[in-house]
Amino acid sequence: MTVRITNIQHFSLHDGQGIRTTVFLKGCNLKCPWCANPECISSKIQGKFGYDIHLDKLEHEIIKDKPFYKTGGGVTFSGGEPLLQIKNLEPLLKSLKNENIHICFETALFVPEKYLKIAEKYADEFIVDIKMIDSKNCEKVIGGKIRQYLTNLETLDMEKTTFRIPITKFSLKDTELILNLLKYFKPKHLEIFELHNLAKSKYDILNKKQYYEKIDDNQINEFYDNLKKIVPTAEIIEI
Ligand code: SF4
Repeated sequence: MTVRITNIQHFSLHDGQGIRTTVFLKGCNLKCPWCANPECISSKIQGKFGYDIHLDKLEHEIIKDKPFYKTGGGVTFSGGEPLLQIKNLEPLLKSLKNENIHICFETALFVPEKYLKIAEKYADEFIVDIKMIDSKNCEKVIGGKIRQYLTNLETLDMEKTTFRIPITKFSLKDTELILNLLKYFKPKHLEIFELHNLAKSKYDILNKKQYYEKIDDNQINEFYDNLKKIVPTAEIIEI
C-alpha cells in the first residue's frame, strides 16, 4: 500500500507538541487562496512535486526519529488534507499506535465524516483551522461547506484539539462568529498566525497566483485580545 506525499519534514517544531516528523500528504479538496503549501493541493504528481511512498518506507522514516519523540513529540500528518488518504494510511496508523507513537492530524476538517471516524481511532491530537464561518464566503473563497465542518467539529474531542486561525480579512470579518464558536467548543489550545508569501516560488512553478495581504498590527492585536478572553492560552505563532 502507498500514499502520495510531497515531503517528510524531520525535527519539526510547529506541527503539534514536542519534536515531530511531519508528513505532507498530497491532495486537498479546498482551494484556500493563501495556501502555504500550494504543491499539496492537487492530488496529481506535478513535476518535482509529489511521489508515492510505500507504507513500510514511510514507517521507517517515522520510526528512525523515535528518540526525539521523548520530548512529547511524534508524527504529524499534514498536507494538503491528510484525511483524504486515511484509508490507505490506516495500516501505518495501526503500527504506529503499537509503537506508542503520538499521532497528530493537521486537518481543515471539510471531509466526509467517515474519514474523520477512522482518524479519531488513532489520533492523540488534532490541529484544526478556523478559516472563516460565513457559509457563502466559505463556498466561494475556499470551496468548502461550513455545515460539513461544523458537523465534524461536534464529534471531535476538544481535549485533543488545537484550533489554528489564519489572520485574513475573512477571519477578521467573522470575529463574532469565531468567538461564539470558541465559547461553544472550548478547545484545549488556540494559535493564530499571519499570512506570509514564502511559497511564492512554488506558486510561480505551478503558474498560480497567491493571495497575500498585510493586516494592520492594531487589528491583529484587537483580534488576539478578544480571542484570549475566551481561550487564555491563545498565542500568535509563525509558520
Ligand atoms: S486546506 Fe490547507 S492545504 Fe488545503 S488549500 Fe487550504 S491551506 Fe492549502
